Amino acid sequence: MMTIVREKNTIIRKRKDFESQTVGLVPTMGNLHQGHLSLIQKSLEQNDVTIVTIFVNPKQFGKGEDLNKYPRTLDQDLEKIETLLQTEGQLIIFAPKSDTEVYPPGFNTTISVQAPFAKTLCALQRPGHFDGVATVIYQLFHLLRPHVAYFGQKDLQQFHIIKKLVYDLDLDVNLKMSPIVRDHDGLALSSRNQYLNPHERKEALTLFKTLKEMRELIESNPQDFIFALEEKRKRLITNDPKWEYLEFLDAQNLEKIDKRTQAIAILGAYKLGSTRLIDNIVVRIDAR
Ligand code: AMP
Repeated sequence: MMTIVREKNTIIRKRKDFESQTVGLVPTMGNLHQGHLSLIQKSLEQNDVTIVTIFVNPKQFGKGEDLNKYPRTLDQDLEKIETLLQTEGQLIIFAPKSDTEVYPPGFNTTISVQAPFAKTLCALQRPGHFDGVATVIYQLFHLLRPHVAYFGQKDLQQFHIIKKLVYDLDLDVNLKMSPIVRDHDGLALSSRNQYLNPHERKEALTLFKTLKEMRELIESNPQDFIFALEEKRKRLITNDPKWEYLEFLDAQNLEKIDKRTQAIAILGAYKLGSTRLIDNIVVRIDAR
């Protein structure tokens, strides 16, 4: 059964019907694709009740970013979600009818994770972005009180920030991260892919192709890959201005790799015209 709720008061009332059941939450900004659907599917399988939020959170968009043109496709989203309903489990879609359903009028609080990894990578080009993410996730956790919340590895840095938020504020919610769902040619699915023109869509493959090449450098020499990886990283970012960043970090904490590192996250942001794509690969090296 699928129920659509557009008001805060209704969702608060509805949530009280499920006090004795497990509740999974999948926060999204809508314009759903298979990546989002894989998270919803998982929550439906693992919980009695799944709440999917569809909310284009204005606080996570910076000046000059795509808040106004971000695709809002609620009817199509609902049709896509309905295809999952063969799976057991109750489904509630919370699609706030306006921003004030999430942020009361005059709202003037920011949740800001201050860990070093919250200030690198995407944060460098998108100041305030992760504060907007942390603030909305806190609001949604508070309102919906999920037992489990599902996120994609696609936004690995975001996942780490939410993990830290949950730890620091001692929030009673389990976090689960799902693998990246990709298009047939490897491009990570993203609502922003549709902004790409045909030429940019071809060029976009550079991102995943490069991450795979870097993974091969690690796998072909797991004892001693740092120099080769750093050389390649430097050469690429110097010669192609489309790279906003290309980094390899400890996947466990997004800090510099060291002797204790068991898995490496290779992360890239690649800008095509005004569209910024991100992707990452995690490579285990614990056999060293
Ligand atoms: P968004 O609507 O972009 O805020 O994304 C909502 C959730 O879907 C986030 O947890 C994302 O990490 C996740 N997600 C987005 N794209 C993908 C993908 N290609 N594969 C898996 N999860 C994804």
